[in-house]
Parts: sequence; C-alpha cells; structure tokens
Amino acid sequence: MMSRVFVWFVGLLIGVFAATPLAFGNTIALLGTKWCSSQAAVFIQASSGVSAQAVADVQAAINEWTNAIAGLGLSFKGYSFTTDRKTATVIINLKGGTGNVLGSTQFSTAGTCFSAVRVNLSGKAFGQGLSDPAIRTVTRHEFGHVTGLGHSDDPNDLMFATFDAFGGTEKFISACDGQAVKTVYTQNPIPSSFTC
Ligand SMILES: [Zn+2]
Repeated sequence: MMSRVFVWFVGLLIGVFAATPLAFGNTIALLGTKWCSSQAAVFIQASSGVSAQAVADVQAAINEWTNAIAGLGLSFKGYSFTTDRKTATVIINLKGGTGNVLGSTQFSTAGTCFSAVRVNLSGKAFGQGLSDPAIRTVTRHEFGHVTGLGHSDDPNDLMFATFDAFGGTEKFISACDGQAVKTVYTQNPIPSSFTC
C-alpha cells in the first residue's frame, strides 16, 4: 500500500514553516513577499505527454485566483498568460512524469517584491495520473504561494501543506484566503501570519 499523502512545498521556505507551531485553527502564514507590479505574466511549459485538459485545468485555477484578487480592489490585479517565455515573471513547468511531489514553488525577490517565480507541477504522482480536480487543487495551492501566502494550520484549507491527491476532495480558494491576500497587499510591513 503506497502512501497517499503527497507533499506540497515551497522549496526555499521549508525551515520557516517547520518552526511555526500553531494552536488555533485557520491561521495562514504569510511569505512577506508580494507583487509590486499590477499584473504578473505567466508562461506554461508543458512537457510532452501532458494533456491539453491538464493545461486547461492549470489555466482555470490561475484564472480563479485572478478573479478572487480582482474582488479585493488591490493594486495587484492578478495573472495574465503569455506565450513569450522571455516576458514571463512566472514560469510553470508542467510535467507528466512520475514523482511523489505534487507541486513546488520557488521565487526570487527584490526587497519585499517578487521578481521571478518558478512553479513545478506534476500531472502524475507515483505513476498514477492525477484527476482534473487534483490538478486544479494543486495549482490553486501553488498560486496561493505565488500570490504571497504560506501554509495554513487547518487541514481543510487550500493552503494546508499536504493533500491526498487520490482520495481528497477538491479544495477551492476561500474567503479566508482572500482576506489573507488582502493583508499581504495592504499592510506594511507584511505580518507573519493572518488568522481568520
Ligand atoms: Zn505549499
């Protein structure tokens, strides 16, 4: 029986999250970084063997974030897509290969602003193809990081660190996630966490 818990991680920040014990529900860590531009351009690099449906799932989940952000009235308006890799500030590598990591996000910063972000998504894990809801859930989670959120202490939340990709129910961007994003973009300095 293989493990069915798969780990999402922010590649550069594992130690930070490991040192954050939280006693109460629904506290979301914040990365301390935000987009200082009005939009971020996303380029999707899909490996051979990745279905058009998987790419569509990724785009749909990113558009949900843009819609959620638009409702907050911030200077940052969300994500656009580009077919020119050189103009992209967010590059997604969508892989069809095997592996036990669903997604990871790494970023570089200029001050407190994101300057470049790379997201790796796996369309398969342990050789099993992920369902469309699982691909959307993992993309929503990783773009929570891309937008400035860390992990939640609530297992039901989108931003919880792990997800059962083959048995878990689809997770969506919550009102709490939106309020956490609003905190990131309206408070200076950015607090270390947001509690709903
Ligand atoms: Zn994560």
